[in-house]
Amino acid sequence: MVSRDDEYDYLFKVVLIGDSGVGKSNLLSRFTRNEFNLESKSTIGVEFATRSIKVDGKTIKAQIWDTAGQERYRAITSAYYRGAVGALLVYDIAKHLTYENVERWLRELRDHADQNIVIMLVGNKSDLRHLRAVPTDEAKAFAERHRLSFIETSALDSTNVETAFHNILTEIYHIVSQKQLNSTPATNSSTDHVILPRPISAENEANKSNKNCCQNL
Ligand code: GDP
Ligand code: MG
Repeated sequence: MVSRDDEYDYLFKVVLIGDSGVGKSNLLSRFTRNEFNLESKSTIGVEFATRSIKVDGKTIKAQIWDTAGQERYRAITSAYYRGAVGALLVYDIAKHLTYENVERWLRELRDHADQNIVIMLVGNKSDLRHLRAVPTDEAKAFAERHRLSFIETSALDSTNVETAFHNILTEIYHIVSQKQLNSTPATNSSTDHVILPRPISAENEANKSNKNCCQNL
């Protein structure tokens, strides 16, 4: 399932957004390290974490970006969104305000991200059943209206965390591979949000010069 970190067919940048405290950092640590932290602390020093998965026999390396708490001050810079092909827009099912703010985050994406970015609405903390403030059906209907995919997760008990990342990466992969079928190499290389595949044999050389590069490879 997981391959060597420096060998991949596709590299996709995915950003985590949503209000502070909804569980973004824990979704990331659950997916990339299978870790959960009960204390709420903002991410310091870590810009992104990676994990590779297999889709259709291809190795997809996800480079998942987490905020360092800037969302508290509404100060996420456009560099955060640059080159992102996917976004997990997270709210807390036990805090209605974080769900109400989803509209604001969608506007933020519209203003700063690529217009073709794949967005998944994620209702996190599904383990807090007794405290639920956002009905699943309501969020599902909202997602359908806005053409977002939707899932409820729990970073605490791991429910659907794998599925959420797997689904969004698969959706991105299908869009990207479809685009490649439909376009010539010349037009393909000019699209600015698409992460182009490279043969694995070319990987090591390219990696040496551009380790963290994630767009227009
Ligand atoms: P962020 O600010 O969005 O990055 O949120 P964090 O990942 O720092 O989580 C904020 C708080 O919510 C922490 O105390 C976490 O332990 C807690 N938390 C995160 N995910 C879950 C979850 O799925 N269930 C529960 N019950 N708590 C969670
Ligand atoms: Mg965080």
